Amino acid sequence: MIFIKYIDKFDFEYDIQGIVRSFYPGEEMCTDKSERLNDARLILECDFNSESLEIKLLEKLNDTQFKPVTIEKFKAATDLNGKYDRKETKNILKRKLYDILHNYSGKELLWGTLSGIRPTKITSELLENGMSDEEAVHFMKENYYLSDIKAKESVKISRNELNILDEIDYKNGYSLYVGIPFCPSTCLYCSFTSNPLSRFRNKIDSYLDAVCKEIEFCKNAFAHKKISTIYVGGGTPTTLEPYQLEKLLGKIEECFDVRKLYEFTVEAGRPDSITREKLAVIKKHGVTRISINPQTMKDETLKIIGRHHTVEQFINAYKMAREEGFDNINMDFILGLPDENADDIRYNMKMVEELKPDSLTIHSLALKRAARLNFFKDKYKDYAFENSEEIMEITKETAKRLDLEPYYLYRQKNMTGNLENVGYARKSREGIYNILIMEEKQTILAVGAGASTKMVFPDGKRIERIENVKDVDLYIEKIDEMIERKNRFIQENECFKNASVEEDDDINKEDDNDIQNAADEIIDFNINSIPEALMHGICVSNLAYDIGKELGLDDKYCNMLAMAGMVHDIGKVKVYAYLYGGDDTLNVEKLKYIRMHSKLGYDILSEKGFSNDVLDAVLYHHENYDGSGYPENLAGENIPLSARILRVSDVFAALISNRTYRKAFDFNTAIELMIDEVKNFDMKIFLAFMRVIHNVDINKITRKEDREE
Ligand code: SF4
Repeated sequence: MIFIKYIDKFDFEYDIQGIVRSFYPGEEMCTDKSERLNDARLILECDFNSESLEIKLLEKLNDTQFKPVTIEKFKAATDLNGKYDRKETKNILKRKLYDILHNYSGKELLWGTLSGIRPTKITSELLENGMSDEEAVHFMKENYYLSDIKAKESVKISRNELNILDEIDYKNGYSLYVGIPFCPSTCLYCSFTSNPLSRFRNKIDSYLDAVCKEIEFCKNAFAHKKISTIYVGGGTPTTLEPYQLEKLLGKIEECFDVRKLYEFTVEAGRPDSITREKLAVIKKHGVTRISINPQTMKDETLKIIGRHHTVEQFINAYKMAREEGFDNINMDFILGLPDENADDIRYNMKMVEELKPDSLTIHSLALKRAARLNFFKDKYKDYAFENSEEIMEITKETAKRLDLEPYYLYRQKNMTGNLENVGYARKSREGIYNILIMEEKQTILAVGAGASTKMVFPDGKRIERIENVKDVDLYIEKIDEMIERKNRFIQENECFKNASVEEDDDINKEDDNDIQNAADEIIDFNINSIPEALMHGICVSNLAYDIGKELGLDDKYCNMLAMAGMVHDIGKVKVYAYLYGGDDTLNVEKLKYIRMHSKLGYDILSEKGFSNDVLDAVLYHHENYDGSGYPENLAGENIPLSARILRVSDVFAALISNRTYRKAFDFNTAIELMIDEVKNFDMKIFLAFMRVIHNVDINKITRKEDREE
């Protein structure tokens, strides 16, 4: 185990852990349980004050002692005005840490100090700023320690991307993503919004009604902008029956002039969902590009990874699509699947060369937190998950022989071999949407459950997300709220605004609905509802205490968690006063107050002299681990531990309680909903919560009325 000890408050925790994880993949890392210090074989101590940084690496000497291996001290970077330069300080820190771990382990990382998912965003910027390819390669090697091969690859891909983008007018446009979150079965590695078709079949028609409503909104809201591409993904859009595809694609065709799009993609994805009739509907509605994904050409592996189709089914579906006239077909493959080695990949690529797709996307298997592969690690521990640069090379050679050029690249956390995903395509068959979304060049309006809209501001630097709920039932039920989230954002940001939508009466009506829903959320604090609010506090308090115990935290800390759980929503009392206190604030403005309750709670409690730990827990209990929460969009371990524990406890307590707009979910459904949203939680806390919840006495944490309804 490697223990990372942050002295005082430390910035850059994410970056440090990313590099340590790349040097020691699969090794346990611990950051906040000091009682486990002696279990570590290495300790990394990081100390930072506003002027200097210190990194110390210590190696285990015996059961209780460690000896220093390296100590590095260096100054924080400043800009030309002598002000602290955070970005440059981070780069220096990462290089120093890389040197320390490289010298200690003897390892080299192909991607150097880069741990982000978009390395080509950096190289594209260098090229756009006028650097030659050689200069950009040199820069990447010097500044980020990239290996020669990865520096050249990323520069080459950026150059190809820029050439492709040069030929299209995307700057004032936008793209549309439509999510169909149903699949025939769930793949072992899946972390997308995907629901098994068998359980959701009878909800799809209502789901499509909601999606069509959201598409209609997008058309009107962005009527003043040109739409560049449309991507129908998921899930597996071809799980829809032909009449449902007809309805969806017909709606898209009714709303947009699809013949003028640069690209219209439907991800056919799973071969077992494709029929000739569906392909004909897709073709009829002007779709220009489809993707049929084998992932592997080995039937045995397909069974292990939970894809209920065969290689033969894939080949038949592919040939059928060609017969139906599709001249732009992509194939996805994954490297690093269970027990697949270089020979298997050679065989896969031989088949690819025979079938000659127009584009080929090579993924390196990523072990995602929310995937079954992660949840049931033990079950798959005897399989080998092999990937390497040599294996990647086999796929590159195939692409070259087929005349497919690399045109986009991205990385993910926890990829086998710490490698990358690369898209190759024949000239003019590139997936333009893929480039636009990966390089964050354009706003992507996203519709459907779990879809995430990305609003790219005109400066190209500020990017904001608007998330739809993942749960299909909730999405259908709250479609007006999903639309209003987008509308509100657009109305609040002049650069996205379309004046005609502002005057729309229906939209204003939806404002009122939204306010009502939001008011329902806080109605617990109406004087008549004090018992419900109190019970919620007790439930959060009990759970937070138990999770603290499960994590091995000391009694004092657990008691603090119990206290924070009781008072975490105290700020809602003030929000109630703001909303119903007769002030003149605009309705839409009032929504902002609801999000202020954590800050208001913090203020109330700090006046009363509560401890800093309780204050932190209350202030940050709506922060999500992936950075999508509020009030400060903190991410990962930048969120105080107490707040991360409260987050999990609060969500569960809310799900198992009756609300004015829905009944309480049962335990299992609540947990399933939380697994869907697991990106919001710290995984080790979530797992501790799962252990707690399986032993908990239900009577201790729920109200009788909630259980009985
Ligand atoms: S096909 Fe894609 S979305 Fe569906 S389960 Fe497999 S990985 Fe997930």
